[in-house]
Amino acid sequence: MTTNGYFAWNLADRGERPCVRDDHNALSYRQFADRVDAAAQHLQKIGVTRGDVVGTFLPNRVDLVVALMAAWRLGATATPVNPNFTATEADYQLDDACARVVVGRTPGGPATGRVELDPDELNITPDPTWIAPSEPAPTDVALIIYTSGSTGSPKGVEQTHANALYMATAISDHLHLDADDHALLILPLFHSNALYASFLPMMLVGGHLSITGSFSVRRFFTDVATLRPTYFSAVPTIYALLTSSPDIDDADVSSLHFAICGAAPISKELLDASESKLGVTIVEGYGLTESTCVATCNPRFGVRKLGTVGVALPGQVVEVVDPQGDVVPTGERGEVVISGPNVMRAYLGRPDATAATIVNGRLHTGDIGVLDTDGYLSIVDRIKDMIIRGGENVYPKEIEAAIATHPSVLESAVVGGPDPVLGEVPVAFVVTYPNALLDSDELAEHLRAVLTKAKRPTEIHIVDALPRNPVGKVDKPSLRQQTRTAVD
Ligand code: ATP
Repeated sequence: MTTNGYFAWNLADRGERPCVRDDHNALSYRQFADRVDAAAQHLQKIGVTRGDVVGTFLPNRVDLVVALMAAWRLGATATPVNPNFTATEADYQLDDACARVVVGRTPGGPATGRVELDPDELNITPDPTWIAPSEPAPTDVALIIYTSGSTGSPKGVEQTHANALYMATAISDHLHLDADDHALLILPLFHSNALYASFLPMMLVGGHLSITGSFSVRRFFTDVATLRPTYFSAVPTIYALLTSSPDIDDADVSSLHFAICGAAPISKELLDASESKLGVTIVEGYGLTESTCVATCNPRFGVRKLGTVGVALPGQVVEVVDPQGDVVPTGERGEVVISGPNVMRAYLGRPDATAATIVNGRLHTGDIGVLDTDGYLSIVDRIKDMIIRGGENVYPKEIEAAIATHPSVLESAVVGGPDPVLGEVPVAFVVTYPNALLDSDELAEHLRAVLTKAKRPTEIHIVDALPRNPVGKVDKPSLRQQTRTAVD
């Protein structure tokens, strides 16, 4: 595998093949290569050089991927910022990453020493005689992606060019992607999933990338019917929205060959419903920003084990260890640790956090998992989401799986609520299918048959929707907060 920089893919050599589109642009590979070169030339003119950090503050659109590629062309590092961030949140990331230049306008305007550019300023006619500076080294940082900060301030994860190229290659190989593939990109580009499951694999294999703006179910079905993508990658919430929409019955999804689900646990029932309504295989994968996206994934064509997150991608070693770091016997629970070419370089500027997370070359994920004899991993839960009820470990995901067996349930989230005697007890927040007449008593009755007492939620709240973080994952810290506010 080559690790000599993105522009070595010679995008321009792919000529007039469709490369990337959004609501305002439809660029061939040659046109996209020109846009990247033009942007790189402009960034260079204003002083960006190798090792600098270029931020983006843009919604999902072609300008954003042009800016990323242009930064890499100069050997600079890119840090995409969530475009919905407030001035304070955006400044936190841009200051922490020491971004000198930002493509896009932040709500607070440029801080001292920082330049903000409109993306149009990068859309100039490129000088064809321009020669790009030396290529970045594999160990140079390509991207600084920020964690959501649910366990403290957001941390910048340094993903090197070697990490990124490995991941794009491994995912493309694992999912058998080729130049005939067309990804519909619906997740935000400031998160690893969109970068590594859609954008970079398409650039690697010479496929086509359609970038949509903000997600809506109606927009999704229109885009699939008209743009005719071959696959998309989504989080469980999106599958819940798609399958509960009446639009799914008449949607033309015939172009889709398969779909990807990751970033958070999906119930077997929701996965089944999504597969049968969309009529495609949905491949579930697992990973972290710190593992440059995917660590394990079910195969697209081989043996898929539902309820597991699949096998380690080639090149990675995924193990389950006890608190001392020793590998536990197959079938036993422990912390998932990952080693391989996908492990981040470090948390930017946080040597202590890095040393606590990468121990002897193994990335500690903070997830509890089990490996079976064929190497398929099941995620039991996140250590930090585990509920300790009177000294006993209770796993919210197991309770959520039991709740999902009720046919009226679309999705649920269980968190630990405070209890004066037991310390913590499970509290459930449940979303039903539209028009379902489920109440908390009926669900409690259903759970009595499937869960032992310690695992039965002491409160069940039927809610219209679950709170989400910007990537669309259930925001468990805010639910935990709700249980505390309700009690206080
Ligand atoms: P933070 O780490 O700050 O809380 P985050 O959740 O946004 O932020 P990510 O790196 O996006 O950080 O998420 C990684 C976590 O997502 C994993 O550690 C795991 O708990 C969860 N996860 C990802 N994929 C799956 C999956 N298929 N099944 C269950 N959990 C998953």
